Amino acid sequence: MATIPFPKKKVPRDVAQRELQILERTYPQAVTALDYTSTYELLIAVILSAQTTDARVNMITPILFKKYPTPGKLAKADPADVEQIIKSSGFFRMKTKNIMNAARELVEKYGGEVPREREQLESLAGVGRKTANVVMSVAFQEAAIAVDTHVFRVSHRLGLTLGTTPRQVEEDLIALVPQEKRRLASHWLILHGRAICKAPTPLCAKCPVNELCPTPPIIAKMNAARVKTAAGRSGPSAKGAATARPARSVSAKKKR
Ligand code: SF4
Repeated sequence: MATIPFPKKKVPRDVAQRELQILERTYPQAVTALDYTSTYELLIAVILSAQTTDARVNMITPILFKKYPTPGKLAKADPADVEQIIKSSGFFRMKTKNIMNAARELVEKYGGEVPREREQLESLAGVGRKTANVVMSVAFQEAAIAVDTHVFRVSHRLGLTLGTTPRQVEEDLIALVPQEKRRLASHWLILHGRAICKAPTPLCAKCPVNELCPTPPIIAKMNAARVKTAAGRSGPSAKGAATARPARSVSAKKKR
């Protein structure tokens, strides 16, 4: 499928909040897919997850954390050994530098503990706003919303934001989600992005927010244009076949 353009207008606030409520009900088990047993492990796993999947990180970290179970041990590791262990996560040289420097900073500045303040987290090697938000929301239950590629895409498709940067999307979501639920909001959007609202082909017919989402009419228009083009080539045929909003399945309707 060709790239689906994002809606040019946000949906009204009450519609946006209903969409988010449906996602909250659909994904009640909103937890990170990364495996970890301590805040140190979570921090390192999130740094490693850049440009790769959580599943890939979960294959690497048991070996890494068995060998380097504390920031102190990781800070003193042989970089070549760490590179070898994390190689399949991509960008492994840069990631090795980042996780070893972050581990060193934890030891030297924070007594081997992961700090909970944003400013301190963002001062660590390899930690940007998104990583800090994940650590703050998952480890410390702070009201932070991490915007990754799924959150960015799904928020746009649902008409929750017109933001062109992750920070703008984060601000729009903060304005929509009550404070006590913010730490969960990115999980709803990530899980939905992985399961249903996939890039590049969203499964709109199975989507529980289909009837509120502004993107199915955009897809229907794209399909109609494609059918028209094909009909122009081969004569009158399937005219109108793809102009309807992709319908939700009956079972999805019953679930709402
Ligand atoms: S209706 Fe389609 S585009 Fe909208 S959220 Fe669902 S899967 Fe994504």
